[in-house]
Amino acid sequence: MKELHSIDNYLTKAELINFKKFIKDKETPFLAVNLEQVRKNYDALHSSLPYAKIYYAVKANPIDEVVKTLDKKGSNFDVATIYEIDQCLRLGITADRMSYGNPIKKARDIAYAYKKGIRIFATDSISDLEKIAKNAPGSKVLFRLLLEGGGADWPLSKKFGSHPDLIYRLILKASKMNVIPYGLSFHVGSQQRDIGQWDNAIALCRYLFDALQQHNIKLKAINLGGGFPTTYVHPTNSLEVYAKEITKFLHDDFGDDFPEILIEPGRSMVGDCGIIVSEIVMISKKSRLDQHKWMYLDVGKFNGLIETLDESIKYPIFWEKAKKGLRNTERVILAGPTCDSADILYETYKYKFPKGVKEGDKLFILSTGAYTQSYSSIYFNGFPPLKHYIYKK
Ligand SMILES: *Cc1c(COP(=O)(O)O)cnc(C)c1O
Repeated sequence: MKELHSIDNYLTKAELINFKKFIKDKETPFLAVNLEQVRKNYDALHSSLPYAKIYYAVKANPIDEVVKTLDKKGSNFDVATIYEIDQCLRLGITADRMSYGNPIKKARDIAYAYKKGIRIFATDSISDLEKIAKNAPGSKVLFRLLLEGGGADWPLSKKFGSHPDLIYRLILKASKMNVIPYGLSFHVGSQQRDIGQWDNAIALCRYLFDALQQHNIKLKAINLGGGFPTTYVHPTNSLEVYAKEITKFLHDDFGDDFPEILIEPGRSMVGDCGIIVSEIVMISKKSRLDQHKWMYLDVGKFNGLIETLDESIKYPIFWEKAKKGLRNTERVILAGPTCDSADILYETYKYKFPKGVKEGDKLFILSTGAYTQSYSSIYFNGFPPLKHYIYKK
């Protein structure tokens, strides 16, 4: 796979100069968040899939400023817990702009969401469906299909959704309960590189729409989930290509009369709006003849970089003094600062840095706007949770 190895693939010269000024007196590690980029990403999604109603997956980056920025843009919000509901309400977002997309929930949390005004719920089991019917009567329910997540950097396979045959039966049951069987939902896996996964999923939806129509159940909506890409080391097709293909799949299966379409972007909305700035704590070797140095950073799996699990997500990482291209480099193993041996970031995939990199230098970990700060642990080894700043380009 092609790789983007140069910092100028990501930042313009002016942006880099500005950024260096901004971080100058700040203690690492921290996440720097750019809200203009969030607005740009929203606009890009909205204009490339104009027929889709956007529900931002709050978990991707729940920083108040990010949520408020998307609120101003007119986004809706997919929430997974009563805490995210409370956060959105506190920020002035009304419940009619929220969907409760987590298929795993307590009955009392459903009741709470209902009391606050939420009327769209996702489900994938009879147990949860019964809880919704009882605690959120009359609500619209989206039924989540199980997909394998093949082709995704961060697959969500197995845990969410149910087999189409079970979903079909659930919807038949739901039609006799006090809920509205409203539509289907799926998630093809996060950072999905294979656009064809949407094709399979949409075809499956068509099949279920037809099968249920035979029972006079008319589903009205499809939630295409998340999975849209952001920019990491290995580039993907552009968002425009994703949008064009997905629109084609919808036309192929549903003609011009689309059902109502929802999307729940997380990573693609906020991934490239964040940069983690980290200091190199130590550079060492494990043996005299070791081929690779170890480079220990002040940020690791427990304060923001959990998605390096299995080296799934490969962030673009650059030395603060990086110039265009890379010369005279060496490959290193990157690890975090905690006393847990799982806190190794990249050992199989080796990042390259110029040989002049020293302890105390800073590294820029790019595209860390999604699934980082909120995953940060509370004082493991005494390390505080990752802090953040808002910066302008
Ligand atoms: C996390 C999540 C998303 C966001 O997925 P991305 O791949 O980050 O866009 C969307 N929908 C649901 C239900 C989720 O849990």
